[in-house]
Amino acid sequence: MKVVKFGGSSVASATQYKKVANIILADKDRKAVIVSAPGKRHENDVKTTDLLIQLAGSVNDEGYDQSIFDKVLFRYKEIIEELGLPSGLEEEIAGSLLELISLYKYNEERLLDALKSSGEDNNAKVMTAYLNSLGQKAVYISPKEAGMVVTDEPGNAQILPEAYEKIAELRNREGILVIPGFFGYSYQGNIVTFPRGGSDITGSIIAAGMDAVEYENFTDVDSVYCVNPKMVENPCEMKEITYREMRELAYSGFSVFHDEALQPVFQKGIPVRVKNTNRPEAPGTRIVLDRELNGRPVVGIASDTDFCSVNITKYLMNRELGFGRKLLSILEDEGISYEHTPSGIDNISVILRSYELDNGKEERVIERIKNELLVDDINIERNLAMIMVVGEGMKHTVGIASKAAQALAESQSNIKMINQGSSEVSMMFGVDGGSVVRAVNCLYKAYFTANPSKEKSIH
Ligand code: ASP
Repeated sequence: MKVVKFGGSSVASATQYKKVANIILADKDRKAVIVSAPGKRHENDVKTTDLLIQLAGSVNDEGYDQSIFDKVLFRYKEIIEELGLPSGLEEEIAGSLLELISLYKYNEERLLDALKSSGEDNNAKVMTAYLNSLGQKAVYISPKEAGMVVTDEPGNAQILPEAYEKIAELRNREGILVIPGFFGYSYQGNIVTFPRGGSDITGSIIAAGMDAVEYENFTDVDSVYCVNPKMVENPCEMKEITYREMRELAYSGFSVFHDEALQPVFQKGIPVRVKNTNRPEAPGTRIVLDRELNGRPVVGIASDTDFCSVNITKYLMNRELGFGRKLLSILEDEGISYEHTPSGIDNISVILRSYELDNGKEERVIERIKNELLVDDINIERNLAMIMVVGEGMKHTVGIASKAAQALAESQSNIKMINQGSSEVSMMFGVDGGSVVRAVNCLYKAYFTANPSKEKSIH
């Protein structure tokens, strides 16, 4: 039994719907189907979820913006008409949107979550109707019925552990089960959405709960590439990677698969396969617990921009008991989440995503660090990019770092930070934001197109 998830671009139009139905019906093991809301039909299109966010923002005492409402409705109308489905479906969708608006119009946060969730909810209903129209037994299952109980924080739902027992019962249901992605219900009775892109998370939870043999995640690329194809021309594809490698890559810019989505399947060891709705015959990329290390210690290179580094110096810092704790508790007080803390003997840097210092936090944090920790110097370096070189094979290979250093030198990038965690699945380099494309290209050349003879396996 497989769980299959289709992302926004896979269900963006009637043409895409037909491809999806062919995929579902081509394999009778495809038992549970998770759908996103209709996504972009072309590059400049707007996702239904973004329209719904606009709609929620337009609601006030007098009503709502009718033109946005119509745009949302049109996304479904187009699909319903082109597939020849009953027009009553469209009226049902309009009615349910109006109901959500009137129910939640005095509660901004809940209104936003309820409208966001309707994107996938209505799409799951349309998909069910389409599969039925093809003579298939398909049933719409709401997340409530499926047992998706989640925490109550709007826009940031987390699945509760007890959800899995109820989800397991879905195995006994007859027909193809169509479940909307992206949200669950809290014990307080609220609709709560996962973070953006969260239909991947629903799929993973359902796959884990139903104990699927595989979780197939259909998107619009043939596979996960070793490096961002927008940065490097024609990069090689990854056939198989581990959850840990995927997690490291997703952290630093690989957006193919939601990073939070790996946890449920990872815990159960259920393999994930990322595939292309537009070319289902391509094998895609498999994400697994363990893989054969096939001689190439590095599987991928990812990068992300917009980091900054808070650099702090204090003479004899290394001997001062509690310095690190006090520093981090200032950040905690201010609600700032940090990424890395590379350090020297008398200095420490805290690497953050730049937006963490918005809304006046920067001035406050600097003042507090100066006053409470009596540091000699503090400055902020901006526009940093992080590059992550990832591969399980690195642990057993010497010469990886020297290759990276050489490639970065060739690309004329100044290394501002190097970080390698104890797991040795990744090595991270901080460089100036302006040099990141050059740096990634040189690294790609070094690890993927050059002869790997300089690295030595130490098995
Ligand atoms: N529709 C939601 C979003 O755009 C969730 C998803 O597609 O996974 O973020």
